[in-house]
Amino acid sequence: MLKVLALLLVMAPSLGCATTRGELNKAKSPFALPELGYAANALAPVIDEATMNLHHGKHHKAYVDNLNAALGEQDKAKSLVEILGSVSKYPDAVRNNGGGHWNHSFFWTLMNSEEKAAKTKMSSALRKDLEKSFGSVENFKKEFETQAKGVFGSGWAWLVKTDDGKLVIAKTANQDNPLMDIAAVKGKPVLALDVWEHAYYLTYQNKRADYVANFWRIVDWKQVSKYHAER
Ligand code: MN
Repeated sequence: MLKVLALLLVMAPSLGCATTRGELNKAKSPFALPELGYAANALAPVIDEATMNLHHGKHHKAYVDNLNAALGEQDKAKSLVEILGSVSKYPDAVRNNGGGHWNHSFFWTLMNSEEKAAKTKMSSALRKDLEKSFGSVENFKKEFETQAKGVFGSGWAWLVKTDDGKLVIAKTANQDNPLMDIAAVKGKPVLALDVWEHAYYLTYQNKRADYVANFWRIVDWKQVSKYHAER
């Protein structure tokens, strides 16, 4: 009995599962590593199992641990989105690791196995908005790929809903994101792609373009449509 209780206590932090953007934004420090929501091999062969284990279990966990270590007493009970919204007032460790935690937690929720992803459909509202901003869904994908391939060094590509409801594509360096007060393009992330080498190097080596092109095979459009619909 005691052993079971002890095990539950040990597991509790990892059960802090941020499954939606809303929950993630409301999460307060100390922050916890969310679960993936699928097995580490579920995204293979687009993203291999070893990459997922390292990316989630080591890289993302380090962002969470370093973020918690970088925050002070006065930051307890602040939501992650509040912290990111005034990140210019914090040390770089909060910008890098707070962004790292938010970005990866969000990223995991955007994907699913090829089989499951193929069954998800884009909402008509998202389709209409993409057509309005980019002419067609195909054009949007092309433009998103161009931006993702164009990130110099480490960073992210984003589909962002700006405050006036427009969809735009942006790229950020390192772990910056559109929720940060320092971002050039601000708004609510709808879709994101991690183009750090740690996200794809084991399978793709230097071929980032192949990783970016394959990403569409595992995008969960139902989830992306939900993010698009959230106010
Ligand atoms: Mn990453």
